[in-house]
Amino acid sequence: MSVAAQFRDLYGYEPAGVWAAPGRVNLIGEYTDFNEGFVMPLALPHTAVAAVARRTDGVLRLHSADIDAPVAELRVDELTPLSKYGQGGWAAYPAGVVWALRDAGHVITGADIHLASTVPTGAGLSSSAALEVVTAYALNELYELGLTAPELAVLAQRAENVFVGVPCGVMDQMASACATEGHALYLDCRDLSTRQVPFDLASQGLRLLVVDTRVKHELGDGAYAERRAGCEEGARVLGVSHLRDVPFAELADSLATLEQAGVDEKVVRYVRHIVSDDHRVERVIELLDSGDVRAIGPVLNDGHVSLRDDLRISCPELDLVVATAGASGAIGARMTGGGFGGSAIVLVETGDAEAVTKAVLDAFDEAGFTAPRVFPAVPSRGARRES
Ligand code: ADP
Ligand code: MG
Repeated sequence: MSVAAQFRDLYGYEPAGVWAAPGRVNLIGEYTDFNEGFVMPLALPHTAVAAVARRTDGVLRLHSADIDAPVAELRVDELTPLSKYGQGGWAAYPAGVVWALRDAGHVITGADIHLASTVPTGAGLSSSAALEVVTAYALNELYELGLTAPELAVLAQRAENVFVGVPCGVMDQMASACATEGHALYLDCRDLSTRQVPFDLASQGLRLLVVDTRVKHELGDGAYAERRAGCEEGARVLGVSHLRDVPFAELADSLATLEQAGVDEKVVRYVRHIVSDDHRVERVIELLDSGDVRAIGPVLNDGHVSLRDDLRISCPELDLVVATAGASGAIGARMTGGGFGGSAIVLVETGDAEAVTKAVLDAFDEAGFTAPRVFPAVPSRGARRES
């Protein structure tokens, strides 16, 4: 049954429209967003789809086809950050968007929302951003707010940061809102300027596989805050506002400066990762612009080593994907996203995709790990109206 038909069953009338917003996977540039650096995500074919209608009585009703919970009924003028809404707190994501819009001065007098998503949750593929962005898109149109895609992404990020209470950067929402088919989205996290970088895998006989390890190690939350603080300390000692301002050409000198200043060795490692990953984003853009997609393989591999050894956010499952992919003929591979589990990406010749997938599945089986989920990341379009 379509999402619109489910809406009709649930609320007893026709939705005003149906919108979709995708999950994303990051090609290169990890933890660089909060350092005001560069990232390059692409939108997945997997989307959150929402059927929505506006209301005039201040009531917000929220329902997900994917969660076993009744309709959450809220009042828009009573939305409060960091409260729990609905079972498992899922309703905080769309409710947070309503709150962020209203907090920015937009008039939202209520809505009925029913959604369903094909974005795997908790796999580092931003199912949360998909929920937020689809809600923001729908309300922007229904209430004729006239906000641009980047403006909606920033409001969606604010919903997640302030209302849900998750300290994420803006990459996920920007990717979900602004990506286009056949491209990766180059994003400068300082001024939110973007460029669509051609990333047409199919015509080159290539495939980008996502390997969802289906694990999430506990370490994650504290580790993120700790990396963030370490990066801030590095920037302070180097006399820049953010690590984005440390030129790659001066990396060796900057690391020497940090060592002389007596900072903890981990700060040196974090700085080396951030500055070199910003540089890898620029390198990948050059290569994609020149049409040489295969040449990004070694850059992806280097990125993984940096995340594993310098930022230290990998885990045995992610390392096993990357090592096995490399040994079974992949062009390049790295973990992607926040780390400590989640997903890895693997660039392969289309003809090798099956063999590499089998090698990874066999290696996981042998190691006694949960079987990962493997699927192709086809660079897809961002948020849009479906009907
Ligand atoms: P990720 O964004 O990497 O998938 P998060 O932990 O940021 O992981 O977001 C996952 C949360 O988003 C889920 O726990 C749930 O609260 C919410 N969510 C995602 N998809 C859905 C859905 N289809 N229906 C209801 N809630 C969802
Ligand atoms: Mg998320």
